[in-house]
Amino acid sequence: MHEMSLAEGILRQVEATARREAARRVTRVILEIGALASVEIEALRFCFDAAARDTLAATAQLEIRVLPGRGWCMLCAQSTPLAALAAPCPRCGSFQVQPVSGMEMRIKEIEIE
Ligand SMILES: [Zn+2]
Repeated sequence: MHEMSLAEGILRQVEATARREAARRVTRVILEIGALASVEIEALRFCFDAAARDTLAATAQLEIRVLPGRGWCMLCAQSTPLAALAAPCPRCGSFQVQPVSGMEMRIKEIEIE
């Protein structure tokens, strides 16, 4: 499952940061995930909780902010909101839309104590 390796990757970064700061535990992790990143949010939450069990982030609250997707419609020659990677342009219905943002996933903030 692709969400499990994502969760493990996130936890590795979170733990590395927490250790560098000599934290006792991680209280909150805030992630930003683009709407076009092909990440199942609920699956990621589940995997994060499972993978965090024996880490400094075992009791951390996971907050996920979904960033909207945007694309560039070739026909309208305009930027447009994009709900999914294969979605048509909401203005003209064309599928010639290049995704320009919303594919990213990053750790926005980590709270430790
Ligand atoms: Zn269009």
